[in-house]
Amino acid sequence: MSSTLSPVKEIPLLREACLIGGKWISGDESNSIQVNNPATGEIIGRVPRFGRLETANAIDAASVAFQLWSKMTAVERCNLMLSWANLIDENQKDLATLLTIEMGKPLAEAMGEVGITANYIRFFAEEGKRVYGDVIPSPWKGKRIFVTKEPVGVVGAITPWNFPSSMLGRKLAAALGSGCTVIAKPASQTPYSALILGELAEKAGIPAGVINIITGSAAQIADEMCENEKVKKITFTGSTPVGKQLASKALANMKKVSMELGGNAPFIVFDSADIDKAVEGAIASKFRNSGQTCVCANRIYAQADIYDEFSAKLKVAIEAQLRVGNGLAPGINQGPLIDERAVAKVEELITDAIEKGGTVVTGGKKDAQGGSFFEPTLLLNATPDMKVAKEETFGPFAPVFKFDSEADAVQMANDTEYGLACYFYTQDLGQTFRVMDALEYGLVGVNEGVITTEYAPFGGFKDSGMGNEGSKYGVDDYIKLKYSCIGGLDQ
Ligand code: NAP
Repeated sequence: MSSTLSPVKEIPLLREACLIGGKWISGDESNSIQVNNPATGEIIGRVPRFGRLETANAIDAASVAFQLWSKMTAVERCNLMLSWANLIDENQKDLATLLTIEMGKPLAEAMGEVGITANYIRFFAEEGKRVYGDVIPSPWKGKRIFVTKEPVGVVGAITPWNFPSSMLGRKLAAALGSGCTVIAKPASQTPYSALILGELAEKAGIPAGVINIITGSAAQIADEMCENEKVKKITFTGSTPVGKQLASKALANMKKVSMELGGNAPFIVFDSADIDKAVEGAIASKFRNSGQTCVCANRIYAQADIYDEFSAKLKVAIEAQLRVGNGLAPGINQGPLIDERAVAKVEELITDAIEKGGTVVTGGKKDAQGGSFFEPTLLLNATPDMKVAKEETFGPFAPVFKFDSEADAVQMANDTEYGLACYFYTQDLGQTFRVMDALEYGLVGVNEGVITTEYAPFGGFKDSGMGNEGSKYGVDDYIKLKYSCIGGLDQ
């Protein structure tokens, strides 16, 4: 397929075709998806717009490959996966550049994301060797109870644009480490970071059909994944409404399901907090990826006695530290938002907050550079009736609410249908444990603004999803238990 020239063309591993059963299949240009650089608006390429037929072909390939991959030893799988992770490391700069060009995040963040993709693969390559079973004490004489663990089978994976490498990397890693094979559908806005992982997996010697990557119509690909009997599990990362729809389709066909969905993270600063550390944490948590992460602080709560000091210091930090621009340029730490729709959402929340009595003290509008660049924004006097108290912003907008007591803070923090990440700052040990227990969230940062690691579980409560990725618990979603009873042993 031809496309406008762009630096992305200089990346040697770039693929503009889908990986199905070890073959790179190009589509017809008239039926393709155009991919743009959100920093420049430039067209960077096209990928196929495939549908049910190609998805069914990919599922067939994954099903055949499952016979081979699941019967390899965990050590054999581990060695191939480690070679894959090493290739990702060797090509980290190219992968990160590509990620920045298609998604917009600053290059340093993209380097970090590609690094964690390789780390997930290494972690689950090793974890696959520890998928232990059990021997359960039998209630009967002459019988033994064995529990063994088996890979679930072919997995359908759908991922979002905000972490186009690591969100897919951690699904592929856990699936492959557990002995499963995968058909993956990346977000249409950021397909290249996924396709390049397929290219490197191939180079590492991972057999054909173990990883299949297909771009195209989300609805058609998802329908085939949910209805095809060869697919045994659906794993999705993305928005809550789409996740709910997908989960109900998958469950109707009795597929195992895991969902990593939206968030509305509270970030609470108590009177006893180290204010400078809290400001540092708020900058990291709120403004990473220009506010476009599912674990970004969405609502900041500061206790009455330190409200003014914290807000003033946060304003200074935003103005001194955050630099908006093309993520490939040196010194930039705030890239563009993914598209105009994202800009409109942030504008809508800011306008609503101002109408309800909020005061913008820095930022508040589109950046002068145009496009989808947006000024990092701080708004004071936020109140619970504002839309931003309920809705996920996914942009660089920090509203600060005031609270009086610990009970008020916990009540406001939990007053949402989401339950992914939350953060609080305190130096009071009793308060640390009380609040840790009271917050209804799957991830809790205490005096820390960024907590994701491959070593810890990552999963939401309430409408933020089901299941966990990362850590030893991340394997469970790709495993089924088999109980075998062996009798006749007492004769
Ligand atoms: P999205 O609109 O739900 O899209 C995510 C993926 O789902 C994309 O691949 C998209 O494909 C696909 N999709 C869209 N409509 C679909 C449908 N009807 N059936 C099946 N698949 C469909 O979410 P997004 O805007 O890309 O991502 C942002 C959301 O993801 C936020 O809510 C964020 O909090 C959440 N997220 C959660 C986590 C977590 O770990 N909990 C991590 C990152 C992001 P197309 O691109 O082709 O439309």
